[in-house]
Amino acid sequence: MDDLQNTSAKRTVLGKFRPLCVLLVMAALAIPAFAGTQLEDHLGAIVWPPYQDETVRLMREYLRIDTSNPPGNELAAAEFFHRLFDQAGIRNIIYPYAPGRANIYAVIKGDGTLRPLVLLNHMDVVQADARSWRLPPFSGEILNGEMYGRGAQDMKDEGLLQAMVMLIAARQHLPLKRDLIFLATSDEEVDGTGSAWMLENHPEAVRDAEFLITEGGSNLIIRGRGTIHAVGVGEKAPFWLRLTASGRGGHGSIPVADSAPDRLVKALARVVDWQTPIRLLPSVEQYFRVIAALEPGPRAAQFRDIRKALQDPAFAQSISRDEEYNFLLRDTVSLTVLHGSSQTNVIPDTAYAELDVRLLPGEDPQLFMGQLRSVLADDSIRITSANRFKPPNSSSTNTSLYRLIEQVVRQYNPQAIVAPALGGGYTESQMYRQLGTTCYGFNTLEVTPEVDASEHAANERVPVEQLRRGLRILYEVVARAVNQ
Ligand SMILES: [Zn+2]
Repeated sequence: MDDLQNTSAKRTVLGKFRPLCVLLVMAALAIPAFAGTQLEDHLGAIVWPPYQDETVRLMREYLRIDTSNPPGNELAAAEFFHRLFDQAGIRNIIYPYAPGRANIYAVIKGDGTLRPLVLLNHMDVVQADARSWRLPPFSGEILNGEMYGRGAQDMKDEGLLQAMVMLIAARQHLPLKRDLIFLATSDEEVDGTGSAWMLENHPEAVRDAEFLITEGGSNLIIRGRGTIHAVGVGEKAPFWLRLTASGRGGHGSIPVADSAPDRLVKALARVVDWQTPIRLLPSVEQYFRVIAALEPGPRAAQFRDIRKALQDPAFAQSISRDEEYNFLLRDTVSLTVLHGSSQTNVIPDTAYAELDVRLLPGEDPQLFMGQLRSVLADDSIRITSANRFKPPNSSSTNTSLYRLIEQVVRQYNPQAIVAPALGGGYTESQMYRQLGTTCYGFNTLEVTPEVDASEHAANERVPVEQLRRGLRILYEVVARAVNQ
């Protein structure tokens, strides 16, 4: 509304004062160049070492706040951010929603030309058993250049860097064409009540956002091959199913033809032999094209044009056997739970199994159920849902933000490969995409597979140098993103 009013006001002025018209046109033409220079001047003027030192200091403080979930106690973390934002004069508000639990929202206003950018992070962490740690999990201690703490990777690192970006933007007076929003939530690791509460009670806080950056990206240093910067663009959705067979029970010494366990096992045999059809998503096609550069031999050419390569049944079979790639190409089914009798000499009257099904973005669960039923080929087996299904979704890579991420990452590491990633598990991006927001999992820290494996495990840690370097990359991405 405001934009339209401004435009018509300008037209009236131009109509009445012709000479002024030329001046205004000249000024309008000069604006983009001026804004560009202003941004370059802004970026060039930042003295990084003090901000990097502050990042390391604050990260240690943040790791010392125990937000193990359950119970979470994220209010303490929200208060930590609240103090930092208040000191920098950034408008912020804590939303407590349950005892000890809260979200915090902060905003730096832009001129409104473009829709907002949201930096989203969760403050809770999974629990830690101190006995298996080298250093206490809530110490923030540094050993051999690595900072230890539960949440060092998931995701207090990214949350703290996002907060630092806000602080630097405010202190250095970053010019902004869009609002820059920081949202830290509770309970991502267990029930996702923080984001759910926010979207239900204060949707206006993020409703209009064009872009959102959160967890789900990973940058693995692969020895001898380079670094793959995986930008999370979508996730598969867990669609858990329970299959229950019923029949006549009895004594194990007198076999029952067609008992519940027998029928279940026969049907399951058909399910485990079933290969679901390949469905190639555009982002997965792009992923293969990008990582082709790392492949030796004929695979390089096959990955570069995976759509064509998949038409060859031999190639389709060989890639389907590769665990690393198979799940990207199809809905998958893993048989995980089997339950019959609890006694060897008792034939039970029911037996059940559970399947961990993961559906690709865009998949229709009812359609999948239909296919599964025909594979089971036994109508007496009852299929029930074993989780709360949330429809999978994804974001396009054809955006200015995705291209900007590619450009800035390569500027800091010319050998880096930036690839769109489809995640096998759920992230909260699923909730925010439903608002029409493009959501990316983007992380700026490069880590070795050993450090990466410490996420959710003992000795979770992050290289201090990567925190310092990651701050600059994230700041540059955000500063440019709020101006384009
Ligand atoms: Zn996380």
